[in-house]
Amino acid sequence: MKKTYTRTVVDVMPVELEFHLFGEGSPQVFFTGGIHGGEATGIYVVQKVLAFLEENELLKGSVKVLPIGNPAAFRRLQRTSPYDNLDLNRIFPGREDMTPSLAVANIIWEEAQEANYIVDMHCCGVWGASYTLAVYKEFDFAKELAGMLSIPRVIESGGTRGQLFTNACDAGIPAVIIELPGGGQGGVIDLEAAEECYQALINLLRQLGMVAGEAVKPEPTFYGKLRPVRTEMDGVFIPAIKAGDTVNEGDVIGHVNDTPIVAPYTGVTTMVRPACYVFKGVPLANLAPLT
Ligand SMILES: [Zn+2]
Repeated sequence: MKKTYTRTVVDVMPVELEFHLFGEGSPQVFFTGGIHGGEATGIYVVQKVLAFLEENELLKGSVKVLPIGNPAAFRRLQRTSPYDNLDLNRIFPGREDMTPSLAVANIIWEEAQEANYIVDMHCCGVWGASYTLAVYKEFDFAKELAGMLSIPRVIESGGTRGQLFTNACDAGIPAVIIELPGGGQGGVIDLEAAEECYQALINLLRQLGMVAGEAVKPEPTFYGKLRPVRTEMDGVFIPAIKAGDTVNEGDVIGHVNDTPIVAPYTGVTTMVRPACYVFKGVPLANLAPLT
């Protein structure tokens, strides 16, 4: 006896992107989170803004909100989509007829076209401190937008293309990233950083006259590109400072065994490792120079 039959496994599930549009016309602000699926603090902030907009009438213009830009990756709390493992924030503007991540990028890119401002929320790891990332030397309008966000540090982006914010700037749309502590394994949310970022986004809408309430004028400090400070030996690292601290050239960042690790230049840290075992070449801190 012979029997032939087929059984079907759907190998690519639908990827549904949920956009929320409040108000109409310009200016239009576009808030995005979860383009990297595990970057939980960013997703949480965008969901808080969404809840705010559901309760508060817009005075003018429109706000578009995409809390989870990469749903398949979010479901696994990881950076990339399990369908194709592509980094969604390296493939903009995407392609509609290609693999799921390219198609997702293409949809987000289309949705971004009417925006006058884009703020894309990300996470810089659980050892990080918040900062705005902007191609501010290349684009004055990106500098202006970064200056309207009450995140105390603005860091110059390396400008890698294929990211939503860099490609948007190329297309003439002011766009920045806000990097927040959290994310990583387990979808960790930093509530304090989330609150600061949420207030910064509402304050941006206030400065644009889009929601009621008094705007405060942010005064962030602008820094150059991040570089790692690495250990030259194996051992135990004990930090002397924490992420977000500013340092002067020669200040002690911490010790590996008994050897002091000093800041090679004046700037601000966006990551400082906690006390831990380290091996030669590992970054102990990320440091952006004061410009
Ligand atoms: Zn990210």
